[in-house]
Amino acid sequence: MEYQVDFLPAGLRIRAYTTHKDENIVPIMFGAHLDTSDDAPNKGVEVLVHENYQGQDLRLQNEVLVSPRLKGFEKLDTYRGETIFTSNGTTLLGGDDKAGIAAIMTFLEYIQVNKEAHGEVDVFFTYDEETGLDGACLLNPETDTKAKYGFVFDNEDGQLGVDSFNAAGAYIDIQREQISERTGQVVKVKLNGHPTFPGHGKEKGMIDSYRNLPAVIEVLNEANATVTNISGGVGSIELEVLVHSAESLTTLAQITDSRFEISADHKGRKPVEFEVTSNEGTASYGYNLGKVVSLVSAIPYEMSAEQTDDRQGYVQPYNFTVAENGTITLMTLLRDFETDGLNAKKGLVTAAVPDIRIKDQYMNKAEVLKESPQLVDAVKEAMSTAGIKNVELAAVRGGDESGVYTLSVQTMIGKPEPGRRIPSVNIGIMGGGAHTVQEYQPLSAMVKAVYTALEINKMAVWKDLV
Ligand SMILES: [Zn+2]
Repeated sequence: MEYQVDFLPAGLRIRAYTTHKDENIVPIMFGAHLDTSDDAPNKGVEVLVHENYQGQDLRLQNEVLVSPRLKGFEKLDTYRGETIFTSNGTTLLGGDDKAGIAAIMTFLEYIQVNKEAHGEVDVFFTYDEETGLDGACLLNPETDTKAKYGFVFDNEDGQLGVDSFNAAGAYIDIQREQISERTGQVVKVKLNGHPTFPGHGKEKGMIDSYRNLPAVIEVLNEANATVTNISGGVGSIELEVLVHSAESLTTLAQITDSRFEISADHKGRKPVEFEVTSNEGTASYGYNLGKVVSLVSAIPYEMSAEQTDDRQGYVQPYNFTVAENGTITLMTLLRDFETDGLNAKKGLVTAAVPDIRIKDQYMNKAEVLKESPQLVDAVKEAMSTAGIKNVELAAVRGGDESGVYTLSVQTMIGKPEPGRRIPSVNIGIMGGGAHTVQEYQPLSAMVKAVYTALEINKMAVWKDLV
């Protein structure tokens, strides 16, 4: 088939050229993202094909279990008799969002081979969605496409995403402080938890290792230990500390689990582990984690990603990163469906740590989509016609590229000039376990996505979308 492929800052643009292209048809665009999450190993993926799935446990390498008996995987049972894809257990599958790419490519081939009427159809396969919708934010609706409406294939099968979070990140910088050189034993302190996509924390059984951090830091302060490094995120935090005397090591060794909020993780590991890694260490700098303690302590438990679902927003400390100059930054996610709610969360973290830096990340597209009710109705109908039963108008507990296109890049992060908007929706395509080694992808969801795209294309031809 014939395409024009262009490499734009946003990603790959594929424009369908066929002999039967009709310039009078309303221009539309389809989207999916090229990158996969790096929350789990994502290189060297080996795909396993499970045909005629009958609701059984799928046992993969490394004792990875994919089963409808597991919390958050119940829906797997609804794909009986179908073909399911998983990885071999050592990596994620990457159906997020290779499933979207496969569906859209199949759609393009179909309209070519079957001479389906179509107008200007632009496909955007974007870069860096997982790191914060970076590619989509670079799409310029003035120059990159004439599309009037956009259709992104991502997120959960059966869902039509018309509502999403408003999002901001809050950042605490912890400078490395010079101290007079000290010697002692090097101790690794590990805080264990269980990571999930934070938006699905409650549903997927997230255990937040940050909850024990204030207590651990208190213990380390009592032991007069020097923190020389801190890294990790929700699922696991690691501190490297220098302990200066035999007594303080005894203090650490005597710590009882009752001091900690989390008693154990899913794997039965202790929530906090201390391990002496060297008997002779020196430190000439350390980190003061006072601001981290203030922030974590200020977040009500019921406002954490672990405890929120549906349309509740959350505040969730997310990860530590280290800069070349040794400054460590803690990034905290602020999420709320309502702008007022997000502002309240910004107020909460600022009250706890006055010099916290806040950066807006993305906004809810629901308000803009209200101006295009015909779009949502048309897509819902297209999905039903394609065989998707009980289309669920979903409040997506995350952001997605359709939100970026709807609001137009110019109104996003740090770009004050309002630009042309491309009202867009997100059409679900994925199975479950995204971003983990347990990810699974039903073939039927991809096939239905192809039919949905064909139905949408027909609506553009009939001008039902205008
Ligand atoms: Zn995705």
